[in-house]
Amino acid sequence: MPEPRPLKLDDAGLAPANILHLPAYKVLRVEETDHDYHIRTELARSPTHCTACEHARLLRYGRNEQLIRDLPMHGKRVGIYVDTQRWRCQACGKTFMESLPAVNAKREMTERLVGWIGQQSLRRTFTSIAEDIGLDEKTVRNIFRDHVNELEKTVRFETPTWMGIDEIHLIRPRCVISNIRSNTIINLLPNRDKKTVISYLGNLDGRREVQTVAMDMWTPYRDAVQAVMPDARIVIDKFHVVRMANDAVEKVRKSRRESLTPKQRRGLMHDRFVLLKRERDLNDKERLLLSGWTANYPELGEAYRLKEAFYAIYEAMGTADQALARYAAWHRSVTPEVRDAYSDLIRAFTNWQPQILAYFDHPVTNAYTESLNSLIRVMNRLGRGYSFEALRAKILFTEGVHNKVKPKFRRREVMADDMAGRTAMFTTFQHDAPEAERNYGVDISTLARLIEEAKL
Ligand SMILES: [Zn+2]
Repeated sequence: MPEPRPLKLDDAGLAPANILHLPAYKVLRVEETDHDYHIRTELARSPTHCTACEHARLLRYGRNEQLIRDLPMHGKRVGIYVDTQRWRCQACGKTFMESLPAVNAKREMTERLVGWIGQQSLRRTFTSIAEDIGLDEKTVRNIFRDHVNELEKTVRFETPTWMGIDEIHLIRPRCVISNIRSNTIINLLPNRDKKTVISYLGNLDGRREVQTVAMDMWTPYRDAVQAVMPDARIVIDKFHVVRMANDAVEKVRKSRRESLTPKQRRGLMHDRFVLLKRERDLNDKERLLLSGWTANYPELGEAYRLKEAFYAIYEAMGTADQALARYAAWHRSVTPEVRDAYSDLIRAFTNWQPQILAYFDHPVTNAYTESLNSLIRVMNRLGRGYSFEALRAKILFTEGVHNKVKPKFRRREVMADDMAGRTAMFTTFQHDAPEAERNYGVDISTLARLIEEAKL
């Protein structure tokens, strides 16, 4: 007896190799051109019942060829031509077209293509995706919108107990909402208006959990937080205040420029970093440069002294009361020659005094300040070729940048009878059933690194 030979797929009467990997379709012919695959198909199965009355006697009632777009294959665009049959029910007389499995009815595309475009639209420009598929950019944008709406519904970030509200420049100034403890971004708002921030905070789940809000000195932010989360404590981060002292030094330097020769002006421009540096960080050469400028231009020396003295208020790390006393002494020491240059800082301190002083009792972590600074530095790079909506979605929903915490894995010991009927200690492993994975938002340092490496 000969060995039975293995059954080939063709022997079983199955379709020849289906390059589409869509079992509902029978591939009839494949035409390949320089840029495209044209794939002729028909449905593998005909309908068995009327869609209206479920009667089983159906008659063919005309054909219609439909073009369905699919995923690019081997770098070429793919069009699937389906020879679709119209049927007429002999019982009720109604006619209907065969429905196309795996096809997104709204778009004349396969579902897998719609999903792929959605994912790609977070990583690449709409134009480049449109070119790959042979579609217009508008279609790509519409799919992107649907995809993002879906993500908005499904991706949930934890509401922070320490929230940051700051400005970030993406084409225009935008509001960035962050979690200070986990160094993550949880949202980006299209603008910095009070109305926008109120609407966001007012709809935020768990907003009563927010204990502290650190922000830059932008009145609409303060108004919005006070309106929606009156119990949250507002803190102004040191970084937003002390940089105003540097701005004051710059103002004095620029006002001196007029009276300088071009050569001196270039020299002062070149050495300006010395004026902005902290005194304790200067090396011998820089110290010499500084003393040269301050000896020749007493106003610069005065501005520098006040800048250093202002930093010292923060470095003393006292209580809010002590900080206020130190500030009062500093304020008295501001001389008329540089008062104008320091007027913004003095006004800000007056207008925001409770929130600035709150920092001394509840300091914002350095880690947050540093990652916010690095983010502000790299963000500008990201703007080119994208709309704000697209940038926002890239930042918030790119896979692999989220800070997620899985539920705790717990070992549990139980007393039970073993197979021999003796009571013994068993160890079982289990997750706490109802506890879900927590998503704390977009990790700022990972995001900054991806932008730096131009992978986003
Ligand atoms: Zn019918």
